[in-house]
Amino acid sequence: MASGAATAIRSDLGSVAQDFLVAGLGATTSIITAVILAAVELRFDFSLYTWMFWFVIPAGAILCGFAAASGYYLGARLFNHRPTGILLLNMVAISVATFFLIHYLDYFFIEIDGKAVRELITFSQYLDIEMSYTAVQFNIRAHPIGEAVEIGSWGYLYAALQMLGFAVGRVAVYFHLKSLPYCDSCSKYLAKKGIQTRYTASSETLTNAVKDIIQCLSESRFQDAIAVHAKTAGSDTYQKELVLRSQIQIKRCKSCNQHWLKFTVSKRARDDWKDNIDELGCQSFCAEAINVESVVTQTTLPS
Ligand SMILES: [Zn+2]
Repeated sequence: MASGAATAIRSDLGSVAQDFLVAGLGATTSIITAVILAAVELRFDFSLYTWMFWFVIPAGAILCGFAAASGYYLGARLFNHRPTGILLLNMVAISVATFFLIHYLDYFFIEIDGKAVRELITFSQYLDIEMSYTAVQFNIRAHPIGEAVEIGSWGYLYAALQMLGFAVGRVAVYFHLKSLPYCDSCSKYLAKKGIQTRYTASSETLTNAVKDIIQCLSESRFQDAIAVHAKTAGSDTYQKELVLRSQIQIKRCKSCNQHWLKFTVSKRARDDWKDNIDELGCQSFCAEAINVESVVTQTTLPS
């Protein structure tokens, strides 16, 4: 009992330490992003992070947020760390701090008539002036239209939107990492093993295949499910008229060789496979080792 509790505490400590490491890497890429943005703004008078799409979507800030969040992603993958709620809080706090850091760097280096702005006003006065005098330049297809328009106290709302934009990238990275299959016993992200794809135009073909595949999976006959999918779900080469796609993805834990299977069905809309038909898909850990390559040579379906 005592040793079990000690192990649990050790692993909790390990997890907290990893949280710190990952948070440190995330903070580092956030600071680098802030420095680059401030340097570009000071040198070229161009601030990417203020770029708005349809006046309300802080596209520039979202992009910068993704760049800043890259450290969290790399850190989590590198240390095989599954992010915790504490890390999410840390990410949001750092993203607010990044926003202020960019403005502080501007404040620190901007000069007016050869005199440093920081010698004339305080940082909070600078922020207040900057936000009260935010000017919006309307652009159509990257061409400026008319004069820039000052938006007065709406500038605060504008700044809040940008702050939100900074956070979006990080929150997206957090939920992406959370959604990745993970081996809890080895504390490792699973590695890709194989993928099997079939295309068909007939929803009837697909429905029948899905029924059989789900049947196999519910009986834990994973290799059979792969064989059924290979033989009955359609063609393995894509043609334009084949608008339904099904995929079996296999990942495995490199330490304990635990396998994981995910079955997804998607429909082609415009030029993209974006609509995952969730109610037809499923995912599961498998007891035995499975692979998609062996079914290619299989000529008969297992009974
Ligand atoms: Zn494992």
